[in-house]
Amino acid sequence: MLLILAAIGTGYWVIGKRAQVQRQRALCASHLSQLGKAISTFADSGENLGRVPMTLRALHPAYIQDPRLFSCPSWSAESQASSPASAQSGDYLYFPNHTKSQGAAPLALCPHCGAGLGFNVLQGDGHVEWFATTPDQLETKLVKMGVPLRIERGMSAAEIQDVQTWRARLNLPPADPPEPLE
Ligand SMILES: [Zn+2]
Repeated sequence: MLLILAAIGTGYWVIGKRAQVQRQRALCASHLSQLGKAISTFADSGENLGRVPMTLRALHPAYIQDPRLFSCPSWSAESQASSPASAQSGDYLYFPNHTKSQGAAPLALCPHCGAGLGFNVLQGDGHVEWFATTPDQLETKLVKMGVPLRIERGMSAAEIQDVQTWRARLNLPPADPPEPLE
């Protein structure tokens, strides 16, 4: 009898946990969507001449008042304890370098709430899409869409550093140097 009750209890816990994951993923998509609107407002304001901000946090406080919007809601005190880093390590990945008038190019994505099954992605045109891919497939997909995740000839040291930082945050191995010329 106790075992049955325990099994039922575990079943409810699993369902509850799954519902919580779904909720956080939906909330995460809403964060990204609000960031997308703020980026667009930023770019449209006169002095920025159509340029997107260099960092998402540059939107605060003029365009985003609530700093919690910069992080995925699944980035809880629990996950911070298991991987203590900077206060901003729960933040979204942001690709500001290649977004000008590329409607379908990813602008930002969440590496936190997909449980290895997928990613919430903010597209340059402002809509948020769920990419159901593993991290390996994600790399191929993002590279195809123009996100700089590989080291190309002629990149500056700072650009190479960006590539490695983005890869590390996507749990991808460091990028190799470009192929030597024939
Ligand atoms: Zn998320």
